[in-house]
Amino acid sequence: MTNWSVFKFGGNSLKDQKSLERAIDLVSEFGNGRLLIVVSAMGKSTNALESYLEARINKDLNLENQIWQELKDFHIEISKSLNLFDEVLRLGIEGELNRIRKLSIDSPYERLYDSVVSAGEILSSIILHAAIQTKFPNASWLDSRMVIKTNSSHKRAEINLEYTERSIHDKLINQQGVWISQGFIGASEQTKETTTLGREGSDYSAAIFAYSLKAKELTIWKDVPGLMSGDPKFFRNVQLLHEVPYDEAMEMAFFGATVIHPKTIQPLKSRNIVLHVRSFFDNKSRATQISNFNFLKPKIPCFLRKSNQTMIEVKSKDLSFVSDGQLSDIYNIFSNIGLTVNLAQHSATKGTFCISSEPRLIAIAVSKLNSYDVFLENDLVLYTIRNPNEESKIWLTRKGQPKMEQSSAKMDQALLLE
Ligand code: ASP
Ligand code: MG
Repeated sequence: MTNWSVFKFGGNSLKDQKSLERAIDLVSEFGNGRLLIVVSAMGKSTNALESYLEARINKDLNLENQIWQELKDFHIEISKSLNLFDEVLRLGIEGELNRIRKLSIDSPYERLYDSVVSAGEILSSIILHAAIQTKFPNASWLDSRMVIKTNSSHKRAEINLEYTERSIHDKLINQQGVWISQGFIGASEQTKETTTLGREGSDYSAAIFAYSLKAKELTIWKDVPGLMSGDPKFFRNVQLLHEVPYDEAMEMAFFGATVIHPKTIQPLKSRNIVLHVRSFFDNKSRATQISNFNFLKPKIPCFLRKSNQTMIEVKSKDLSFVSDGQLSDIYNIFSNIGLTVNLAQHSATKGTFCISSEPRLIAIAVSKLNSYDVFLENDLVLYTIRNPNEESKIWLTRKGQPKMEQSSAKMDQALLLE
């Protein structure tokens, strides 16, 4: 049997009639053999579902009903625009939306969040499945909660790779043709409840599927030409990167290249699976290949920007030395809560950490750091330049006086107020 390929379509590639037709074309063109398609929620449905949950928690009945109705209309309209809206699809869409409406809001927030927000991927996958069936009548739908096995950390669940690999393998090894499944969601091994992997996590799911199927490649279809040397919204004169080593892609994703989720690369690298990041509408042009390359091509500075950063200064109260033990305690506090440190510096009496702002989690961290003096500064932007040169260094110094900065042969970083 042939090797599997995996496609991932994000929300922007599934937001209206035109993009869905394009997705069907791409599957027809490239979907010979065994193809697994991983989808995100359509358009901005995940944000809408988050707002729906907020409205319910705040007991804002009007807003809750309005968002629910908009979600329903949006999914039904898309299905109708493609002439797919039959009784089966109506039951599927309404069933899923009625399910979230009936959920009791008394359960813990994170658990409820996963239960509500997962509806986006379920709806998207049942509609795309119906659409693909117009060309591939035997295309199958897979509930990723049957195979993506996680722990019970709702909203940021960790995948049990061994168990997940086995489940995916057992489910699909003897299968053929086109399969459609969901990114971003899984189920707790322990409780069997729905979990999610963190916002934008469906690239990561696609990588886990590719890994488990020992796929020959994963293609992420985007509304941009590929991975660029900077986000054109913020940086001028950026270029398309043609060849990117796995490690470089991981660094770029971690420091703000939103084109791929940072966790995507590791599973691919470990099995040497090539990742293509390609334009959804212009699939003829040269795209980005991420693989086992030695060098970035073209070898140019890459500009990354991570907004919404908080600087946390942790100072010993009595000016005693911040020892290694204390530093590792501080790191443990952050990581146990689910906060990732993007940049860190420490002196004899204080540690300074740059962390992506998550007010709820940062408040918990501050309360756990009560044996120190803690100062926070919000609304900062972390700039990172990979492969810096003289010109990029000058560019960075002109951005302003950094709150924190770091420089090495491979990377310059500055945390700034903008
Ligand atoms: N739909 C989810 C989100 O918007 C997952 C994803 O798009 O990757 O965060
Ligand atoms: Mg999305």
